[in-house]
Amino acid sequence: MIDIKNVSKWYGNFQVLTDCSTSVKKGDVVVVCGPSGSGKSTLIKTVNGLEPFQKGEITVDGISVGDPKTNLSKLRARIGMVFQNFELFPHLTIRQNLTLGQIKVLGRSEEEATAKGLKYLERVGLLSQQDKFPGQLSGGQQQRVAIARALSMDPIAMLFDEPTSALDPEMINEVLDVMVGLAQEGMTMMVVTHEMGFARRVANHIIFMDKGIIVENCTKDEFFGTTRSDRARDFLAKII
Ligand code: ADP
Ligand code: MG
Repeated sequence: MIDIKNVSKWYGNFQVLTDCSTSVKKGDVVVVCGPSGSGKSTLIKTVNGLEPFQKGEITVDGISVGDPKTNLSKLRARIGMVFQNFELFPHLTIRQNLTLGQIKVLGRSEEEATAKGLKYLERVGLLSQQDKFPGQLSGGQQQRVAIARALSMDPIAMLFDEPTSALDPEMINEVLDVMVGLAQEGMTMMVVTHEMGFARRVANHIIFMDKGIIVENCTKDEFFGTTRSDRARDFLAKII
């Protein structure tokens, strides 16, 4: 589904990604972790073309992301992305947040978009909040709306960039529970997170990055086992 081959990226003279390779099969859940500044956000943003890269190749469902002929907005519409800070439209109601992209980008009718949006809103347990504005919801609720909004676009894969790190501790689980449900239903996911409980429950693969390099790319059992690199072990010792 997602194939990242020998990707390198520079910001000016600063090399932010060095020869990164990994592949994500349909239905895989890949957790990306590593210290702050190690390139995790940059790596997942290259997957949907939000960040260009200078070397290597990325294909998503057979479409080459780096090919100038690729229609990136069309590709992005098929890959759901959920960020740390929710990024809902503050001046629109929850229902309007759910339907806008479906109508503008996918050309769906308002009726169809509303039916689909409310289906996912119900799924994240927030149907009763549809007429509110984002600012009237808690952080955990806003993040669940952001997930429902991404799902309303019928994505072929979902990218999450630290979806729970801006949340108060008591709200983290309500968001992780939605993500676990998605994983169990077979959604293809790349998730930047330090929630190792989530990783233990649903990850197939764990990528550990340091200084722009994929230091570890292994199964969950290998990662949490004893054979890790010093850097991964130090990192795990700090966060668990
Ligand atoms: P992470 O998500 O692992 O914390 P990032 O991918 O956000 O790391 O950033 C990796 C490195 O690239 C950091 O050193 C960061 O300062 C740098 N960086 C990120 N975005 C830019 C940018 N737009 N211009 C220059 N440097 C950047
Ligand atoms: Mg980041």
